[in-house]
Amino acid sequence: MITLKEALKLSKDELKKFKEDLKSKIEAKPELNAYLDVNNAGDGVPIAIKDNIQVQDWSVTSGSNILQGYIAPYNATVINKMAKAGLTPFGRTNMDEFAMGSTTESSFYGKTLNPHNSDYVPGGSSGGSAAAVAAGLAIAALGSDTGGSIRQPASFCGIVGMKPTYGRVSRYGLGAYASSLDQIGPMTQNVEDAAILYDIISGHDEKDSTSVNMNDKVSDKLDATRKLKIAVLPKHIENASEDIKKAYELAITELKNAGHEIVERELMDAKFDISAYYITATAEATTNLARYDGIRYGNRVTGTNLEDTFIQTRSNGFGDEVKRRILLGNFVLSSGYYEAYYVKAQKTRHIIKDQYAKIFKDVDLILSPIAPGTAPKFGELKNPMDMYLSDLYSISVNLAGLPALSLPINKGENGMPVGLQLIAKAYDEQTLFDGALSLEKQINYTK
Ligand code: GLN
Repeated sequence: MITLKEALKLSKDELKKFKEDLKSKIEAKPELNAYLDVNNAGDGVPIAIKDNIQVQDWSVTSGSNILQGYIAPYNATVINKMAKAGLTPFGRTNMDEFAMGSTTESSFYGKTLNPHNSDYVPGGSSGGSAAAVAAGLAIAALGSDTGGSIRQPASFCGIVGMKPTYGRVSRYGLGAYASSLDQIGPMTQNVEDAAILYDIISGHDEKDSTSVNMNDKVSDKLDATRKLKIAVLPKHIENASEDIKKAYELAITELKNAGHEIVERELMDAKFDISAYYITATAEATTNLARYDGIRYGNRVTGTNLEDTFIQTRSNGFGDEVKRRILLGNFVLSSGYYEAYYVKAQKTRHIIKDQYAKIFKDVDLILSPIAPGTAPKFGELKNPMDMYLSDLYSISVNLAGLPALSLPINKGENGMPVGLQLIAKAYDEQTLFDGALSLEKQINYTK
């Protein structure tokens, strides 16, 4: 598959032909189920779009039954920015329902397969975007990351996934899961493409009140020769599988070979991240999902009266995982438990942020696993708690609002890809991409 950098140089005629071929390739592999819909109209470079990002006049479902048939009335800001740069939304990619999950199994529209081996999940929630890029069915894709949903599927599928600093990319037109954590980001074949796509979608947007007023770009200044001070986390990786530990060792060796300075640091026990995240995320999700009442959006099941219509619509429209989180979110926000859970989670969130700030006082980047192992098999994560616990390496980055990039390092025992992430200080995307480019060159991962 050609890279985004190469595709940006194609003529309109070449792109037209390319898109026709790509569409046929996708239609020849329906079992992968990476795309929910494909449309090769428009004359820009085709980009796959996670199905929670609005493209005007195109259906947007967030992987949910409740939004089946809903047509987006306007473009997300990222889509308008893409259009200005000559990029066209080409397909809607499958995802966990409302981005809640780590496997893409909770989509109402069926599971997406991992292109490396169809017994394994592609990761989630941006599993469709990751599978499309990994299978050679997309040049690049957009995903969204609330607690790892770009970086973890990127790692499971052997591609690059980047979560920007909170506020760098506008959330206008992104279906909200947990508004204080959500960020849209690039999922690409390599680090340079991720930087190019990041530059295109980032920048200030007055339509998003949390958007930062910064417009600096990174891709023209990429420099893999900078020598950086990189922290590794010997205690933190103890909970990871042998595959991850081996990849971690390899990455450390290669970073040293590239001339970077390696220092040891520690993070607090990840059990605090899990608790703080699942309280914060479900509380915000409960509020964000209240709007799906059958009156204003998507599917309606008409009941005996207005209240019954709400109940029937929501009972039929939401899947089990979404309902579980609405229950949990309402519980932690309820008056008797608000102080004990929600307020405590916000205090914990500050402590998590502070620990990173301390580390970043004298280091440039942190090297960390993104998931405790390679992709699990379908059905392997048997109960919801196992799935929540598997987020231990990804979610503190969102709680602290930091930028992070996951890139492929090697393959595990069973041949499935292993990725690791680099984390940078807030707004230091340049160093993140520079370090990632250096590691990518040094590792020279083969698909
Ligand atoms: N797995 C996490 C969750 O289910 C992360 C999801 C995400 O980043 N959207 O909440």
